[in-house]
Order: sequence, then C-alpha cells, then structure tokens
Amino acid sequence: MLRLEKLYKSYQLGNSKFEVLKGIDLNIKPGEFVSIMGSSGSGKSTLLNILGILDNYDEGWYYLNGQLIDKKLTQTKAAQLRSRFLGFVFQSFNLLAFKNAVENVALPLYYQKVSRKERNKIAEEYLDKVGLLDWKNHLPSELSGGQKQRIAIARSLISQPKVIFADEPTGALDSNTSADIMKIFREVNNQGITVVVVTHEDDISRMTDRVIKLKDGIILNEDSPAIEIIAPNPELPTPN
Ligand code: ADP
Ligand code: MG
Repeated sequence: MLRLEKLYKSYQLGNSKFEVLKGIDLNIKPGEFVSIMGSSGSGKSTLLNILGILDNYDEGWYYLNGQLIDKKLTQTKAAQLRSRFLGFVFQSFNLLAFKNAVENVALPLYYQKVSRKERNKIAEEYLDKVGLLDWKNHLPSELSGGQKQRIAIARSLISQPKVIFADEPTGALDSNTSADIMKIFREVNNQGITVVVVTHEDDISRMTDRVIKLKDGIILNEDSPAIEIIAPNPELPTPN
C-alpha cells in the first residue's frame, strides 16, 4: 500500500542542509495497523507528511498503491490523490471553530460539491459510528478533547480513504481517552482501512500491530534491538 525505497529528505537552513530522513526503506501492506515511533525531532512528522503527500522529498522512491508518487508532483495532483486515497488526523484536531460537529465532519464532501442536505446526512452516519450523534449540533468549544478527536476521525473517514494517517492523535489526551481513541482506530482498521499512527509514546505504539522505529533519520531493524545494530561485528574489518 505504502512503499518507500532509499528515501531522503532534508531542510535548507540558511546556507546549510539539514538531513532529516537518510535513506528510508519501508513497506506497509494494505490493511495493516502500524505505528511509527521515535523521540521528538526524529523525523516522524516529516515522514508522515511525505507518506500523506503533504510534503515532497529529495531522493528515492515512493509508491502509493503501486503508483509512483513523483518527488516533483504538482500541488493539484497531490490534492487529487489525497482526496481519493488518504485521510488525516492531527494532535490538535484541526476543527473549524465556528462550524458544529456535523458540519465539521461533512467538510470534505463540501469540497467535493456534495449538496448540503446529502453531505449532512452522510456526516450524521459517520458521527454515529464514532458515538457522537447526540452531539451533532455542538461547536468544538463545547466538546472535550476526546470528543473533538472523534469528530476529526469521522471527518477523515467520510471520503472513504484507503489509508488514515494520524500524527500524535493522542498527544493532547489523557491516557484513558487515548486508549478509547486507539480503540476507534482499531475498529477503523477492522473495516480494512490501513492505519498509520505516529507517536513518541511506547504504550500507544503497543496498541498497534507493528511498531516501526525511527531514529536519527533511519528505520531501526524491526526484528533486532538497536544495540545489535551498533555492536561491532567481529567478522567485519574494523573501520579506522
Ligand atoms: P518529529 O515529528 O519526530 O518530532 P519532525 O519531522 O517534526 O520530527 O522534525 C524532524 C527535524 O526536522 C527536527 O529537527 C525539526 O526541527 C526539523 N524540521 C521539521 N520541519 C522543518 C522545516 N519546515 N524546516 C526546517 N527544519 C524542519
Ligand atoms: Mg511530529
């Protein structure tokens, strides 16, 4: 579903180049529920933004659903692919403050020019799926963090994406609410949608089926702890 080969990404800082991703190889299959784990600043958001075609990359290859996502893809083409395949959930919910719950969920359909009556009807179905139909007329300011994140999840699902990307979706929530949100992602995944959750929290990543560890711009071997990678191999000549 998502395949990266030798992917590199750097940011230009003044005259110097700051390398964030240094040759990422990654394969996430359709229907997987994975987390990308790493400490703050390890490049998780950078990686997720590239996977979500929200940002470009410098070198390497990215295949989404078998299709090469060119590193020079236009904004228009990227937007088309996002609306066809991808859904997003962020730590800060990103809800519109002056729209109520049902209008927030319906927003992607507004951009697809679905009539107000039709999109609100569909939005109510998605609100129901996340257990918030009774709150449909409430504004974000009247909802708890957990409820706001449920609204954001319903909004991410309404255009029937193949993949949901969530960047620290529980970062602003207490641990019980976080577990509830992770349960919703589990249900979403049970419907066949690929779910990729970025987190710096061990206990959140353990609620997914596979943990991909990011450190210093590379992905650590999933089957062996980091210590084995850095330990010298006696059969190799010692570098000077
Ligand atoms: P994480 O999400 O794991 O905390 P990020 O992907 O946000 O990490 O950032 C990785 C590194 O890249 C950080 O050192 C950050 O400061 C840097 N960085 C992120 N975005 C930019 C940007 N737009 N310009 C310059 N540096 C950036
Ligand atoms: Mg981040």
